[in-house]
Amino acid sequence: MLRVVPENSDQLVPLNPAAPDDNSASLKSRPLFGLDAPALATVLAGEGEPIWRAKQISEAIYCQYITEISSVTTLSLDLRQKLASHGWQIGRPAIAKTFQSTDGTERYLVQCRPGDATTVETVWMPEGDDGEAGDGTDNEPSVAPPFPARSEGRVGKKAGALEPSHNNSETNPWRRATICVSSQVGCAVNCQFCLTAKLGLQRNLTAGEIAGQVVAVLDRHAVRVGRDRVNLVFMGMGEPFLNYDNFMAAVRLLVEEVGLSPQRMTVSTSGIVPGIERFAQEPSELRPKLAISLNAPNDHIRAVIMPINRKWPIWTIMDAVRGINLRPRERITFEYVLLGGVTDRPEDARQLARLVRRTGLPAKVNLIAWNPGPGIAYATPDPASVADFQKTLIADGIPAYIRQPRGRDIFAACGQLKRTIEG
Ligand code: SF4
Repeated sequence: MLRVVPENSDQLVPLNPAAPDDNSASLKSRPLFGLDAPALATVLAGEGEPIWRAKQISEAIYCQYITEISSVTTLSLDLRQKLASHGWQIGRPAIAKTFQSTDGTERYLVQCRPGDATTVETVWMPEGDDGEAGDGTDNEPSVAPPFPARSEGRVGKKAGALEPSHNNSETNPWRRATICVSSQVGCAVNCQFCLTAKLGLQRNLTAGEIAGQVVAVLDRHAVRVGRDRVNLVFMGMGEPFLNYDNFMAAVRLLVEEVGLSPQRMTVSTSGIVPGIERFAQEPSELRPKLAISLNAPNDHIRAVIMPINRKWPIWTIMDAVRGINLRPRERITFEYVLLGGVTDRPEDARQLARLVRRTGLPAKVNLIAWNPGPGIAYATPDPASVADFQKTLIADGIPAYIRQPRGRDIFAACGQLKRTIEG
């Protein structure tokens, strides 16, 4: 049963210790999806098989998008049957329902585990700019540097190859696409403008459930890693830094097993300072880019619309962000949802520009006109005030971009994810 966050609560809703955070209790089968190469090797060793077969299984499930053990033809029939008889299955999260927007966006309800009714939301945005415009990373490689766990035989580019991404319009109807990924079922952070907050927190997703959303969508669109330009944004349901270990384990799977580049991934946090401090310690070959969901020009307004600000005010967040060793050309993104009459006034823009300048960080601001949701009493600003806000920031020397809403008609836009089944 969902635990709904009380209106105007200034508290995080703690994760119920009884809520399942691992998959041991509720699974009768044994999923391979979510295990990295060393863990797969351990499985094989336990089955009395040579551990080098782990590479074959990893390539089948993470690169060739195979979902049934019986279809992993690089394994002998005997081994496939043995694994299945011992309860092993691939167990990848699966798309249970698809909603299609008139703008090409697709929103999915993804079933986390076979036989489990829990679903999370994942969004595919062809041509989505994912807020990357102007952050200097458009020419970054779209595949990860080589890791020992990966090798040849992938659906996409041979693992380890590094080359700039390119236009794939000859083969797909989209030039590039962005996948928005969920990290929790619901969310405890209680941002007052966000529909997902109305769910409260149900549970954390495992690493396999987070990475599985991505692979299910790559599979649906026949994405070839290394050929096609796909960005990931961890901005779906949940606060990734309140599920830090599983989030980073998922990133590791996506980098080391699937072959995606962390420089084409962006994680957004509401400002969980201990999480940012841990994030700053991650090696650059694994660390995604960081976006701070700022949304207000000062602590006073932010504490009202984001109660978590009372725990970690703006400057404690900025101090933590300054601990990150940024890559060349990398910028911190400040996400800023414009709420009509609340955060979109000219003085808000001027104050925001001063704030960003004072951080001393290489930064840009992504402006998002608030997407309406049932039961939330804010107003969407008119396009002219959004444009004026952007102009003020730019005039003050702050790079600022307006993110166009995607999939509003199917409740797929920012802050709208609530497992709605309305078409
Ligand atoms: S905006 Fe993000 S962090 Fe805030 S309640 Fe919604 S999902 Fe959670």
